[in-house]
Amino acid sequence: MLQYLTVPVTAFAQNCSIVWCDETMDAAIIDPGGDLERLLAQVARHGLNLKAIWLTHAHIDHAGGTAELAERLHLPIIGPHPGDQFWIDGLLEQSAMFGFPPAAHFTPTRWLADGDTVQIGHCELAVRHCPGHTPGHVVFHSSQAKRAFVGDVLFAGSIGRTDFPQGNHEQLISSIRERLWPMGDDTVFIPGHGPESTLGEERRSNPYVGQR
Ligand SMILES: [Zn+2]
Ligand SMILES: [Zn+2]
Repeated sequence: MLQYLTVPVTAFAQNCSIVWCDETMDAAIIDPGGDLERLLAQVARHGLNLKAIWLTHAHIDHAGGTAELAERLHLPIIGPHPGDQFWIDGLLEQSAMFGFPPAAHFTPTRWLADGDTVQIGHCELAVRHCPGHTPGHVVFHSSQAKRAFVGDVLFAGSIGRTDFPQGNHEQLISSIRERLWPMGDDTVFIPGHGPESTLGEERRSNPYVGQR
């Protein structure tokens, strides 16, 4: 069964999630934006074997620690979708602009596409491509655990910004309606910022994308 814990990192309080299979204790780290020592302390505390980095998208608060972590622990970088190449290429500029430690760009070991799966231990998660906040944004869904790690696509009571280069509001709304809602009302989602919620709650009450 999939287990996870969420550690807010960086000045943007980005919800980095450490996910693992409780049979093998193999773990993946979703969106290591920074504060690597705190993340690695959690990995050690839970006795996890860190095997991979998974990325939802390449904004600095989500991907800023990726190159350093991958190099230090020889981890493969899985994701995001190739639409975020320009954000990866611009990581150094992003770090300067937002006052982050200098973040190196990197080359993903494996790009992701809609319909792919990622595996950690005995747990498999489905990949859905959810463009709109960034063109290459993906989310990770465990139907078994009824959890979705959705980055900056959907928040409790809000949705991702679309005023960045290549952001697209209509596309974001379609991504949420066509690719998140079908996961089911009882699916708990872990957003990139702020508290968890369920898809059903947002479908009812989210002012941006709920039923009115
Ligand atoms: Zn973002
Ligand atoms: Zn973010």
